[in-house]
Amino acid sequence: MIVRHVPLLDLQAQYRSLKPELDAAVMRVAESQRFILGDEVAAFEKEIADYLEVPYALGVSSGTDALLLSLMALGIGPGDEVIVPTFSFFATAGVVSRLHATPVFVDIDPVSFNLDPGFLERAVTTRTRAVVPVHLFGQAADMNAVMEVAEAHGLRVVEDAAQAIGVRCGDGRFAGTVGTTGCFSFFPSKNLGCFGDGGLVVTNDPELYHRMKIMRVHGGEPKYYHKIIGGNFRLDALQAAVLRVKLPHLETWSRRRRENAHRYRSLFIEAGLAEESGRTAFDDRNTVLLPKEVYAGAEPGFYHIYNQYSIRVEKRDKVMQYLRDRNVGCEIYYPVPFHRQECFADVSSSNGSFPVADEVARTILSIPVYPEMTEDMQQYVVETIAEAVHA
Ligand SMILES: *Cc1c(COP(=O)(O)O)cnc(C)c1O
Repeated sequence: MIVRHVPLLDLQAQYRSLKPELDAAVMRVAESQRFILGDEVAAFEKEIADYLEVPYALGVSSGTDALLLSLMALGIGPGDEVIVPTFSFFATAGVVSRLHATPVFVDIDPVSFNLDPGFLERAVTTRTRAVVPVHLFGQAADMNAVMEVAEAHGLRVVEDAAQAIGVRCGDGRFAGTVGTTGCFSFFPSKNLGCFGDGGLVVTNDPELYHRMKIMRVHGGEPKYYHKIIGGNFRLDALQAAVLRVKLPHLETWSRRRRENAHRYRSLFIEAGLAEESGRTAFDDRNTVLLPKEVYAGAEPGFYHIYNQYSIRVEKRDKVMQYLRDRNVGCEIYYPVPFHRQECFADVSSSNGSFPVADEVARTILSIPVYPEMTEDMQQYVVETIAEAVHA
C-alpha cells in the first residue's frame, strides 16, 4: 500500500474499533438520564483506582481542574511559591497563578524533557510550598529525586501526569501515585481520552481525598453548608461511561505506541539520521535526535508510554512545513516556555535563564505515534523527514 497521508492522531480509527461498546455506554447513560456523578462515575473511580494501584481516585472535569483542585485543597495561595518546570503545557503553571501564588520556573533535562532535579533543590526558598513535576510526553520524571528534595524541605508534590497514565516511575509505582496528589487528563488526545473534557486526581491520603471530594462540589458538607470554598469540578457520567469502555484497552494501546517508538528508532537509524547511542547533540550522524528512555536499562519501554513521540531537529520550522505540505501531521509541543510567556513577564524577571528549555523549544517536533498507525505510515514519515533535512 502506498501511503501519502499520516495524521498526527486518528481518533476515528480508535472509535471504529470499539463502536458497539462505546455507543451502548452512551445510550445507557441517555436511558438513565442520570448525568451528574452517580453510579457511572463511582464505578469508573473504583476501576481506575484498582488499575493505578492507588486507594483514592476522584473523577474531575479536566486535567487542569485536577491540578487546580489539588492546589486549592492544599491551601496554596498568595505569598506561596510553587516550583514548576518551565517547559510544559500551559495549565501546569497557569493554575498556580490563578490561585494568586507565584510559579517559580526551573529548567529541564535535555534527555527526558522533564524537570531537572538539580535545579529543583536550588529553587527552594522559605516561601516554597509545593512542586509540580510533569511526566512530559509520557515519560516518568525522576520521582525518587523529586521526593527526596520535597521531603528535605517539607514540600507538597502535585504530579502532573496528564500525558502519562499507566507509566511506571523508577521505583515501580505508577506516575501520579507517588506524590501528594497525581493529576490526569482525559482530553481526547491523551492515551486514555474521553468524548470531551475530563480528568482525574488520585491520592494516598484519606483526609486530602475527603477534602477534594467536597471541594469538587463547591465545598458544601452537608450540601448547602460550606466550611470551605470549592467549585464545580465534576466528571460527567457520560464521560465516565466512555472511559469504562476504554480503560481495559489502555495497556494494549500504550504497548503499540511503544512498539511504534521502537520501530521509529530502527527506521531513523537505517535512514542514517540518528545513532543507536541516542546522543543528545546534533552532528553529522545525529541530524535527528530521538527521544530517549531514561530508565530503559531496567526494563525497556516500561517507563515511557509515548503520548507524544518528540524528536529534535535543526531547521525545525522548515522540516515542519515540509511535512505538512506532504500530509504528515506534526506539532510543536511546546514553542514557548513559561519564562518567555507574556503573562508571566513579572514572575520570570527574577527567575534567571533557562538555556535547555530555550534550545528544546527551538528544535522540538512531535510526529505521529498513535496505536493504529501502520509500518508503511511510519516509513512514509521517516522518508519524508529524510527528504526534508536534505532539501
Ligand atoms: C493536557 C495537559 C494538561 C491539562 O489537561 P486538560 O484536560 O486539557 O485540562 C495539563 N498538563 C499537561 C502536561 C497536559 O498535557
